[in-house]
Amino acid sequence: MSDQKGFTTTILHSDRLLKPEFGALHQPVHTSVTWGYDDVQGLVNVFQNKAKGYAYSRQGNPTVTALEHKVTQMEQGMATVAFSTGMAAISATLFALIKAGDHVIASSFLFGNTRSVMQTFIDLGIEFTFVDATDVKHIKDAMQENTRLVFVETIANPATQVSDLGPIGNFCEEKGLVYVVDNTMTSPYIFRPVAVKASLVINSLTKYIGGHGDALGGSVTDTGLFNWVNFPNITAVLRAQIRPEMLGVTQIRKRGLRDSGGTLSPEAAHTIALGAETMALRLDRACTNAGALARFLETQPLVSKVYYPGLESHPQHALASSLFYRYGGLMSFALQDGVDCFAFLNKLNLVIKSSNLGDTRTLAIPVAHTIFFELGPQRRAEMGIPDSMIRLSVGIEDTEDLIEDFRQALEASNV
Ligand SMILES: *Cc1c(COP(=O)(O)O)cnc(C)c1O
Repeated sequence: MSDQKGFTTTILHSDRLLKPEFGALHQPVHTSVTWGYDDVQGLVNVFQNKAKGYAYSRQGNPTVTALEHKVTQMEQGMATVAFSTGMAAISATLFALIKAGDHVIASSFLFGNTRSVMQTFIDLGIEFTFVDATDVKHIKDAMQENTRLVFVETIANPATQVSDLGPIGNFCEEKGLVYVVDNTMTSPYIFRPVAVKASLVINSLTKYIGGHGDALGGSVTDTGLFNWVNFPNITAVLRAQIRPEMLGVTQIRKRGLRDSGGTLSPEAAHTIALGAETMALRLDRACTNAGALARFLETQPLVSKVYYPGLESHPQHALASSLFYRYGGLMSFALQDGVDCFAFLNKLNLVIKSSNLGDTRTLAIPVAHTIFFELGPQRRAEMGIPDSMIRLSVGIEDTEDLIEDFRQALEASNV
């Protein structure tokens, strides 16, 4: 269905096409931890990967499978593994695919917790090189003989740098590197990393896909483009049992999900699946609001800088225009020296001081004091994060109400 129908049509009808019992339109919430078999051979076949089925909910559950199927369709991929959070998806992917002696190239503009978990991998002896991923040249220069994987985000948070996604994909293909793209900030409605030859696509389902700030979740989608047969870290046991194209995603499901245990609950999977039905509608509104707010803030004397890929002043505006359907709902801005950033934030009435993103409500957070506090001043400077930077996750409120809230807060700050 996904091949012919539009984005929203596909999501709305995907459960029904899996034929849940009684003609249910939604996949039911299966709360069972385990499944029983009349004939023990059925259970054995599931364990030995000879038959599809469920044995224990840590590594598979029908409600979660239905959501995985939806994410696969959204990303036009081959298969998806869902996790309890986006961070569980990221950690498990690295954990499942990387070994001692390997080298990873990652963007230096990464979600703070992703950068932090990579530090844990460095402490475990894995080599990482962090580079400015807005130009493929830096990725090429960092390549070593033991490089296995390249990890980038589409649009970075909070300073909105856009990765040089297409050329990086070509380079990874040429060198046989696993190309992991975190698509959280764009979401599969705005961008599909399969178009730039990504091997694996990460989504925090907590953000735009769930969309209401009421459930945590994460996913890894295999696009089907990477040749796992040549990847040295696939275990011999899997090579003997699993179809070649399923080797990567199966190793992630087993070593990453089953063994690390970051399982998505069926209740959260159901909540995220409901949220996903309106994803395109929500994102269209959020992107419209973000564009309007960015243009408004750019004209304000108390604002020193606005970071939004939809603005012509953005250094990767042309790149973003060539890659993305829209420019996303996330933006940041910095205030002029001398304007008290906390006082300004406290004057906002509608906008909520909160750390999530991809919610229906507009959320604002002072970056240096919160999500990037642990990194310290030097790393923040390297990542282009000034002390007065405020990140906005723009919601779906009526545009004029949002602009009015910023207008009054700026006016009240102009002392
Ligand atoms: C939020 C986020 C994550 C982590 O997702 P959680 O669901 O919060 O664990 C990873 N990457 C990016 C780009 C994010 O914004």
